Amino acid sequence: MSNGNGIKKRKVLDRIIPYTPGKPLWEVQQELGIDKVIKLASNENPLGPSPKAVEAIRNILFGLNRYPDAHGADLKSAIANNLSISSNQLIVTNGADELITLISETFLEEGDEIIVPFPSFSEYEFGAHLMGAKVIHVPLDENFQFSLDSILTAITENTKLIYICSPNNPTGTYLSKLRLVELLNSVPKTILVVFDSAYSHFATNQDYSAGLEFVRDGYPIIVLQTFSKIFGLAGVRVGFGVANESIIQDIIRVKEPFNVNSLALAAATAAITDNEHVYESIEVNSSGREQLYKALSEQGLRYVESMSNFILVDFGSNAREVYEQLLLNGVIVRHGEIWGIPNYLRISIGTREENEILIEAVCRILQKLEKASGEIVYE
Ligand SMILES: *Cc1c(COP(=O)(O)O)cnc(C)c1O
Repeated sequence: MSNGNGIKKRKVLDRIIPYTPGKPLWEVQQELGIDKVIKLASNENPLGPSPKAVEAIRNILFGLNRYPDAHGADLKSAIANNLSISSNQLIVTNGADELITLISETFLEEGDEIIVPFPSFSEYEFGAHLMGAKVIHVPLDENFQFSLDSILTAITENTKLIYICSPNNPTGTYLSKLRLVELLNSVPKTILVVFDSAYSHFATNQDYSAGLEFVRDGYPIIVLQTFSKIFGLAGVRVGFGVANESIIQDIIRVKEPFNVNSLALAAATAAITDNEHVYESIEVNSSGREQLYKALSEQGLRYVESMSNFILVDFGSNAREVYEQLLLNGVIVRHGEIWGIPNYLRISIGTREENEILIEAVCRILQKLEKASGEIVYE
């Protein structure tokens, strides 16, 4: 296709579907002309950033004339301490999103295949398409659980990467530690398992693993983590990967020198030691999850049990209408059609007050819809 200036772009770019972010607050505020808008659409931390991180950013503002540390040494050492790993097993990146691109650039040749459970995080496919690799979708089962058999069956001699997002975005389901061991022991040694545990802090079940112990045990796995979710730093863009040193060294070859900016480095270094903020965030999320479960059940709505900071809710054929109406009421959530599940909305868990506003809005909207369709309204 011509882009109007006669310069041909690479063919593989035709396969890239632009990322659809959650609607930003300001956009909805402008469109509706209202101030009170709540965003439960991008799994952000509703408590705000770690206060220690904010303080750290303040303290370095007048050093912004200097380039950041290209190795992110302080941040790496803070993460290494926190996770009991070695700094050599770490790479810090401009969000976990950048890491996904870097992994793709490091390991994918044209024609290689990646295995991605479906539905899952869209950036995995972006990285593959960028490199001209092929995306093999393996559907989750009817309860949105991972199907190990289907994943293993999908492996061919071209498979390079297997992505597992656990807890999975957008379903909130996870791969238990036992089944992760089974997967790692079953895949050929030429395949890297990319284990995205961006939401690991929210997983409260005992049989959950964030994957780090398998890095320590020397398996071909890279664990992805981010400062965007529990630490509340989505706006400064910082994430990291944990893997054995040789995998990390390979990825560092394609990394730009100053990929993580100074503000992000300072903020993340402070945030990872801010236990108070982390515990409070976990607490607010766990109780918010229960609050929403209860309210959804009372409305007779089906939802997927979540180990994360969002819940996938089945609104049946009303999903589109509920989504639109919520927006008009100043509540932004995510519609499932981008993941091929148009009957579902993904709702991020907010503060207690935000959750209440959401619940009230959902109740009102469903009542109106029932009235409109002439069904009996239960008060
Ligand atoms: C939010 C998210 C990330 C991290 O994104 P950043 O680029 O670090 O903001 C990674 N994986 C999944 C599944 C996510 O939902």
